[in-house]
Order: sequence, then C-alpha cells, then structure tokens
Amino acid sequence: MRKPIIVGNWKMNKTPSEALEFMKGIEEVLTGNEAADYGVGAPYVDLDVCVKNAKNLIIAAENCNEKDSGAYTGEVSVPMLKEVGITYCIIGHSERRTYYNETNEACALKAKRLLADNIIPILCIGETEAEYDAGKTADVIKTQLAGSLAGLTAEEVAKMVIAYEPIWAIGTGKSATKEIAEDCCKLVRDTVKALYDGPTGDAVRVQYGGSVKPDNIKEYMACEDIDGALIGGASLKVDSFKEIIDATK
Ligand code: PGA
Repeated sequence: MRKPIIVGNWKMNKTPSEALEFMKGIEEVLTGNEAADYGVGAPYVDLDVCVKNAKNLIIAAENCNEKDSGAYTGEVSVPMLKEVGITYCIIGHSERRTYYNETNEACALKAKRLLADNIIPILCIGETEAEYDAGKTADVIKTQLAGSLAGLTAEEVAKMVIAYEPIWAIGTGKSATKEIAEDCCKLVRDTVKALYDGPTGDAVRVQYGGSVKPDNIKEYMACEDIDGALIGGASLKVDSFKEIIDATK
C-alpha cells in the first residue's frame, strides 16, 4: 500500500522570514492528518528555519551536489543537508535541466548520494510540448528514467518518489487531463518494473506535477497510479496549500 505524498515546490521564492510565516500557518491543518505525507521544497537558506518549525511537514531541498565537499563554489552537499535535518530532496526538475544543464547522469549520481544518507530523492521527469506534439512522450519518459536511475539498486529505487511533470503543464495553468496524467504515471511505474522488477515498480511513489490546484487535485489523487503531486504556484500561499491538504484528507 503506497502512502500518497504531496509536496510543494517553492522554487526561488520566500525569504527565511516569509518561510517562517508559512510554517506557522500550515502546521495546524496537518496535525492528526495521516492521509498522506505532506511537504515543501524550499530554497537552501530557508531550510533551517523550515526544519526547526516543522512538526508534521516534510522539508525538502530543491537540489544538491553529489560530491561531499571541495572546490565547487555555490554548491551544497548532501552531508550539509543531512545536518540541517533534510529528509527529501528534489532532483532533475525541468527548470534545473533547462537552465542549469542538469543531466540524467547527474540525477543518477545525486540520487545515489542522497540515498546513502537516507534522504529520499524526488526525481522529476517529463517531456516538452514539442516532444508531446511529436508523440515522443513515452520515449522521453523511458530514456530519462533509464539514465536517471542508472547505478541504483531495486531497494534504493523502491524508496524513491518520481514526479512526472510534463513541461508544457508547469506554471502554464494548462494541466494535463487526468487520463494523460494517469497514463504517463502508469508508464513510469511500468518502466521501473521493466528496469527492475514488479515489487519495485509497485513500491515507488509516482507524483503528477504541472498546474495542480485546489480544484483539480482530487481527480489526480483518484487515479490508480498517481500517488500524489508536486505543486509549484499553488504551494506558495498558505490558503491554497491548505485547500489542497483539505481536499486530500
Ligand atoms: P506548477 O509547478 O504547479 O506551478 O505548475 C509545478 C512544478 O514545477 O513542480
């Protein structure tokens, strides 16, 4: 039985004081809510204040470096995240793939390093609009998964979260229909089964992401192979994130 997981992705939003304000507002709605795991991905400088003020909310980093230390100006390592108390980390988000050249190979190394410290990777994959229009979605999903999971064991992959996020749906308000989202999330699971085995595919949690809002979260959550959502814009305000939490209780 997979426990759903709903994670906000703040991206490059919120100063530490704004993050603190959010944390104070969100915790009350989570108390006693066991229906799903709930979390937010926050910028590095917000992580400490988020962790210190989180009782029920999972706090995720939005990136990491796969090396432990060294001359990599501006980077943050997994041991640093571990010491702050981080338990999840987003990797391979399409914005990082597009603007910062994050490759499937880098995702695989990051996932391996995170799992070595028991931090759960939330691996993002998904096709562009042009790839969707050209009917290449399935190929993109399979290629990204094969590359981003390279070198990981079945046991490691079973612990992961994979977020299927079609790039044409991110921040556009043009969310995928529940049929497209379900088909693609099922393909993610089937691909994991093909790369590993049935139990691994059945264990991995698969999220849909891309313009998820309080008014459409329920239809995604009702789909068999969708185990939650990765949510950008609608996770920024306490009120809309609360509505999402309430809709999934
Ligand atoms: P969105 O972002 O919900 O604003 O579309 C999703 C994401 O980038 O993870």
